Amino acid sequence: MRNYSQQTTNRSDERDVQITDIKACVVEGNFEWNLIKVETDAGEYGIGESYRGGGVPELVEYTKRFLVGENPLDVERLVRYIFQEMSGHGGTTGKVVTAASGIETALWDVAGKILGLPVYQLLGSKYRDEVRMYCDCHAGEAYAVEDGATAYAEAEAYSPEAYAAEARRVVDMGFSALKFDLDLAADNENDPYNGRLTNRAIAEKREIVAAVRDEIGYDIDLAFDCHWDYSVESAKRLARELEEFDLMWLEDLIPPENMSAQIEVTRSTNTPVATGENRFRVFELSELLYEHGVDIITPDPTTVGGLAETMRVADRAEENYIPLSPHNVCSPVGTMACVHLGAAVPNFDLLEFHALEVDWWDDLLVRDEPLIQDGVIEVPERPGLGIELDEAVVEEHLLEGTTGF
Ligand SMILES: [Mg+2]
Repeated sequence: MRNYSQQTTNRSDERDVQITDIKACVVEGNFEWNLIKVETDAGEYGIGESYRGGGVPELVEYTKRFLVGENPLDVERLVRYIFQEMSGHGGTTGKVVTAASGIETALWDVAGKILGLPVYQLLGSKYRDEVRMYCDCHAGEAYAVEDGATAYAEAEAYSPEAYAAEARRVVDMGFSALKFDLDLAADNENDPYNGRLTNRAIAEKREIVAAVRDEIGYDIDLAFDCHWDYSVESAKRLARELEEFDLMWLEDLIPPENMSAQIEVTRSTNTPVATGENRFRVFELSELLYEHGVDIITPDPTTVGGLAETMRVADRAEENYIPLSPHNVCSPVGTMACVHLGAAVPNFDLLEFHALEVDWWDDLLVRDEPLIQDGVIEVPERPGLGIELDEAVVEEHLLEGTTGF
C-alpha cells in the first residue's frame, strides 16, 4: 500500500511543525454542524467544518492515530493520507471524505496562520474582494428532519402568496439572489414513490414561480430546488414549463446516481440545471462536466473532499465553461471557508446561505458586524480563514450529550 506519511525531512525550522491533536464537536444550529479543530506545536490551531450529521466525530477521532505528529502544512498530502489509510472504510466516497473535508479546511486555516497568509492566497489567487450570497428561503417552515422523515408545514403555508411574501422579505434584507424549495407535499398525493408529476402539480409550481417573479421582478436571481424527486420525463416537463421565468437554476430535479439521466434532463431545456451537492471527490463530478450534463455545478466543499478538491472540480468546470456555486448549509466556519474558495476560483458564481432562521448564526464568530451585509461577504485579509470562534457560544449550542473542543 502506498505510504503517504512524511518521508522528507529537509524543511526550514520555522516550518518544521507538528499536529498535536485533532478534535471535533457538534453544534446544533438548524443542522448538526460538525466543527473540527487541529492543534499544533507551533502555537496555532486551525478550525474547519465537515458536512452536517452523524459519524464525523468518530471518524475524526480515528484519523488521530496517523495524523498526530505529521506536518500540518502538507495539506494535500495529508488528505491523500486519509483517503489511502481509510480507503477500505469510505476513503473513496462517503462519510470518510466528509470527515476529511473538515480536517482539510482546518489544515488550511492553521497553515495560513503559521505562514501569515489568508487561505485564498494559499489556494493560488484572489479574483474578487467579496463573494455574493444567495439566500435559501422557505415559504412554509424550513426543511427539518424529524423522527427520520421530512416534516412539512400545512399546505397553505406553501401558497404562491406565501412564497411571494417571503421573497419580498428576503430581498428587502439586501439579498440579490434567492432559492426556494419547489418539491411540495402535494407532489406525493397521486403516488409518493414513482416521481411522476401530474399536470395539476406542475400547474401549482408554475403559479408559485410566477407569483415570486411578479413580486421581485427579473433583476433578482431566482433558483428552485427539487431535492432529487422526479422521473426524467416529469423533470423535463417541469423545466420546460418554467423556461419563461428565466430562473438562475433548477436544482436536483432527478435522483443523483445516474449520470446519463442527468445529462438527458439538462440538455432538454433552456432552464439552467444545477446539481452536485451529494457527490464525493472530483471523480464523481468529472463526467457531468465533460459531458455538459449540468449548467451550474454545485458541490459542497464540506462533503466533496475540502477546498483543494473543490478547486479541482472548479478547474474541470472552467475547462467546460461551467460556473461553480457551492452548496452550503454550514455554520459561519464552513461558510467562510467557501468565501476563500470564492475569492480563489475564477468561475465562481455565488454561495448559498442556509441559516436565515438561526438568529445566533453570527454570534459563533467573534466579530463586531454581521458576516453578510448587503447580500455579500467580504473576503477576509487576516491569516488563515480569518475567523475566531466564540467558544462560549459554541458551548451554549452543543448537541445534547456531547462535549466541546
Ligand atoms: Mg439542494
